[in-house]
Amino acid sequence: MKNYSSFSDIQLQLQEGLTVKEVVVHYLKNIRQYAHLNAFLEVFEEEALHRAEQIDLKIKQGTAGKLAGMVIANKDVINHKGHHTTSSSKILSGYESIYNATAIERLLRDDAIIIGRCNCDEFAMGSSNENSAFGICKNGLDETKVPGGSSGGSAVAVQMDMCTISLGSDTGGSIRQPASLCGVFGIKPTYGRVSRYGLIAYASSFDQIGVFSNHIEDAAIAMEVISGKDVMDATSSAHPVDAYTNQLAFSGTVRLASFAEALHHPKLDTEISATMNTLIKSLNEAGHTTTQVSFTELDYLVPTYYLLTTAEASSNLSRFDGIRYGYRSQNATDLESTYRKNRSEGFGPEVKRRIMLGTFVLSAGYYDAYYAKAQKMRRLIRDKTLELLKTNDFIILPTTPSTAFGIGEKTKDPVEMYLADLYTVQANITGLPAVSVPLGKHSNGLPYGIQLIGNKFSEARLLAFSKYLMTHYGNSK
Ligand code: GLN
Repeated sequence: MKNYSSFSDIQLQLQEGLTVKEVVVHYLKNIRQYAHLNAFLEVFEEEALHRAEQIDLKIKQGTAGKLAGMVIANKDVINHKGHHTTSSSKILSGYESIYNATAIERLLRDDAIIIGRCNCDEFAMGSSNENSAFGICKNGLDETKVPGGSSGGSAVAVQMDMCTISLGSDTGGSIRQPASLCGVFGIKPTYGRVSRYGLIAYASSFDQIGVFSNHIEDAAIAMEVISGKDVMDATSSAHPVDAYTNQLAFSGTVRLASFAEALHHPKLDTEISATMNTLIKSLNEAGHTTTQVSFTELDYLVPTYYLLTTAEASSNLSRFDGIRYGYRSQNATDLESTYRKNRSEGFGPEVKRRIMLGTFVLSAGYYDAYYAKAQKMRRLIRDKTLELLKTNDFIILPTTPSTAFGIGEKTKDPVEMYLADLYTVQANITGLPAVSVPLGKHSNGLPYGIQLIGNKFSEARLLAFSKYLMTHYGNSK
């Protein structure tokens, strides 16, 4: 099998005699070759090969599902029945899922193969994958650099051709930011587009499952399968799912809004800023319209995001106590110390920091000053963003202020790390869909993405425009 084959190319090769088993063998070879990157916490080698044989048989019989031949890497926060799911945390070590997340269920139903479980930041909290309890994951393009986070392992799995697509979750940028730093495509759908059933919650009103891919078509077909109403998630939307794959041919022109404050931000790398300006100019020349507007709320995005998500996390993570499953401390002497030691030994430092911050912002006396105020800010940001999207199809932004940073470079200063999310959290604060398209190549040799945020349920148009951008402005791999 060829490297970086798109799924449609794999399907074509399958018609010409390639087997699904050979597809799996191809990815397993790459997984082995890049094992030192630590993108996978577990590889389901035997199971994947066995399932491939069964699917090969189904293909012969003409009964195979539409994802036959697609090999997927899962993020360690999405439950997969009969497999470990640990959120890259010691507190869930040994936990085995007793049911499938809806996204997994739907992919398997259509004959996809799950090849393994990917490394990530503990409970999806982080921007570099350095918060994993099971070791850092390295960027395959430069092993001294982080892959981004929290879905670092999923991004690297796609980057190094270890799977066709991978699943990630995105609460504040965890798909788009690593996609940008690894040079792959990433999509975070509209809040409610994909069921969160079976996704281990970080901040429930922000979390969404999404996809990483090398080819936009592959993200489109996977999104088609995992999207849609699910009775198991009351926040999932009944809005009809578009046929993303059939709508990939972009036609017409778009109206784009860019933010003056984003393009002139002191944290933004000057080359990324220059690329943005050149791209905007070229798009205007090609007949699209770009308007630069002022978005004075930009510097409030990260504080709003971190106040609200830590509040939600402090509540969501209170269920992990090591009593019925997960980590049990050997040092406990009575009931209270069992709770205390299970949690203080089971959670890592960043997770503890967020639980404490979240508990503080929700506490009596501080609730109004922090939590309630951040909620008001969320509403303002949402209103202003939606207003802009009344007259514009997309907002165009950098995905990340810089290319992949060095391992250890930001671990001393949490705020510095949080600022890596400067451009990505807006889509989660507003619940809007967003993509990172791998368009940039820095003079330091590293890739970076350009981000688009669209209106609610505009995934079809976002995917089509992403493909258009890749075709006209991409530097093909
Ligand atoms: N980097 C952000 C955080 O640490 C986003 C994480 C995510 O999207 N899961 O919260």
